[in-house]
Amino acid sequence: MDTIHITMPDGAIREVPLGTTAAEIAQQISPRLAKEALVARIAPIHGQAAAAASAAAGAAPEKSPDAAPEARLTSAANGEGFLVDLRAPIDQDVKLSILTPKDPEAIQVLRHSAAHLLAAAVLELFPNVKLGIGPPIDTGFFYDFVRDEPFTPEDLERIEKKMRELAAQDIPNERKMLPKPEALELYRKWEQGFKCELVEERAIEPMVSFYTTGRFIDFCRGPHIPSTGRIRAFKLMSVAGAYWKGQEGNPQMQRIYGACFYTQQELDEYLHRLEEAKRRDHRRLGQELDLFSVQEEAGPGLIFWHPKGGLVRKIMEDWLRDELLRRSYDLVYTPHIMRLELWKTSGHANFYRENMFGPVEVEKDDYQLKPMNCPGHILIYKSRLRSYRELPVRLAELGTVYRYERSGVLHGLLRVRGFTQDDAHIFCMPEQIEAEIEACIDFAFAVMKTFGFSQYVVELSDWDAKHPENYPGSPEDWAHSTSALERTLNRLGIPFKRMEGEGAFYGPKIDFKLIDAIGRPWQLTTVQFDFNLPGRFGLEYVGEDGNRHQPLMVHRALWGSVERFFGILIEHYAGAFPVWLAPVQAEVLPLSEKFAEYGKKVTSALKDAGFRAHLDDRNEKLQAKIRDAQLLKIPYMLIVGGKEAEAGTVSVRQQSKGDLGPRPLADFLSDLRKQVDSRAV
Ligand SMILES: [Zn+2]
Ligand SMILES: [Zn+2]
Repeated sequence: MDTIHITMPDGAIREVPLGTTAAEIAQQISPRLAKEALVARIAPIHGQAAAAASAAAGAAPEKSPDAAPEARLTSAANGEGFLVDLRAPIDQDVKLSILTPKDPEAIQVLRHSAAHLLAAAVLELFPNVKLGIGPPIDTGFFYDFVRDEPFTPEDLERIEKKMRELAAQDIPNERKMLPKPEALELYRKWEQGFKCELVEERAIEPMVSFYTTGRFIDFCRGPHIPSTGRIRAFKLMSVAGAYWKGQEGNPQMQRIYGACFYTQQELDEYLHRLEEAKRRDHRRLGQELDLFSVQEEAGPGLIFWHPKGGLVRKIMEDWLRDELLRRSYDLVYTPHIMRLELWKTSGHANFYRENMFGPVEVEKDDYQLKPMNCPGHILIYKSRLRSYRELPVRLAELGTVYRYERSGVLHGLLRVRGFTQDDAHIFCMPEQIEAEIEACIDFAFAVMKTFGFSQYVVELSDWDAKHPENYPGSPEDWAHSTSALERTLNRLGIPFKRMEGEGAFYGPKIDFKLIDAIGRPWQLTTVQFDFNLPGRFGLEYVGEDGNRHQPLMVHRALWGSVERFFGILIEHYAGAFPVWLAPVQAEVLPLSEKFAEYGKKVTSALKDAGFRAHLDDRNEKLQAKIRDAQLLKIPYMLIVGGKEAEAGTVSVRQQSKGDLGPRPLADFLSDLRKQVDSRAV
């Protein structure tokens, strides 16, 4: 009998009969492992990885990963090898890992199987639906269906109940191989036109793989968990419209979304985070706190900063401008509209055209609303010949740009059509670059600390070394700059993730993602090399050797944009800004009209000391005034009545902590001074 050799993660080698499955090996190791196992990863030992995987997984080579989200699973061969069913016979020497809930990769397989369970349940209840696709997503799964009537919330409840029934029956997810014509015939008879289309397009090999779960038969590469019993912690979340293959004009489908985790606890935590996110939604808070608006009359994606939002913005910008000057940046302003010709030189009119507003004709000349600040800064750099002595040149601008975003993707302050970048461009000599990167990173940390973020993730993105032809700059440029970024991060002891092939087309970059109060990552700071623009604009400096050289150019933004960062801050603080940022720092609340005079005095004292104070002199009950100030998330309420007027005190109430008791006004002022000056968060 033929045998094969299976190398386990600990290096142990097992000799087993040809065709042994991972499930059998798991059983040999321990019944407990067999019980926990969800899926296996194999890596053929004698090369030919692709062929072997194809044999083991029945995988057809992928044509377009976008068109086939389900395929992400098999290509998500994290590290090395491929994911396969536990029941897949192994036909050659391989390295084998048996994945359990401890392995992050396995959750996507569980979620994909949950999508199949959803389809199976829908088919039980609505046998005439037409099936689209159903991949796993970050927190669960979805499946697309065509059905004449819309799915109602009650339908979702019934479907979820049916899913629980089918899960309890522990139905196996069975894999079969069918010849392509038979597969087509099967779907044709079943009148599943979308599935026919998928088989036609994506089945490249003569035999195609299918998974069945009860009534549901899916043209699917898998892999899947062995049976439905392991799908326990899930919840159907919503129905949304979707186009077949995501293309407008294609048939409309109903997409049912579900959340899915290993344990009920993880699911509950996720649902709680969603609730929190809803509570913190900056669009709702923006309205409640009267910070900003988007006006239909003016157009979508364009932000109106109301007085209170505008005040927070001024404070943010003041901090930033002071820091820029302290860190030896020069502040500049550039026009919002410039000749289209300039955008041809920069290349934006070509590669960035889809994101730009259309040109405007003035005196037979085309002008372009700026989508970027870089060309403007380049023109300032180029306005005279630069000597090596004046490098680095660091030009910073709170530069307002306009970009075309489809109305469907616009989202409050986070995705807009007009926004102000905290942009800067650094022009320097190669030997200066590491110090500049380090200074950018230091600045990024100052932003984090000042605005109250303590956790972050850093990514270093490189080019796709297999396709140097897609990039400007020489391999040496890329290697030097990437290693400069890497060395700097290492020197500073900052852990980072390497993202091969994820760099901008014009250069490698470092991205900082800040983690907010409820654990969500937000892409903010970016530091990017540019090997494209200096050449296009013929940038130069006169070196120490008297010759002309091309400077290195770095784009960097810390907040990204003022609008987006403001939106993130609103959500991070749930609208309760720290006292140094709050539009109103203290609300003065006289106990009754009798004490309005003293209230006025206290308010003036606060204002004279440079604080943002407001007197609530409405003829309302104190409780109502407190409630309103509380709703406006004003950090301090100062309650003043007869006792306070007599003693020159204020009764302090803190938004987050409640009553703090009476304090001499002078003491409160000096405490507030300390908090504001230290930018306590
Ligand atoms: Zn599938
Ligand atoms: Zn730029």
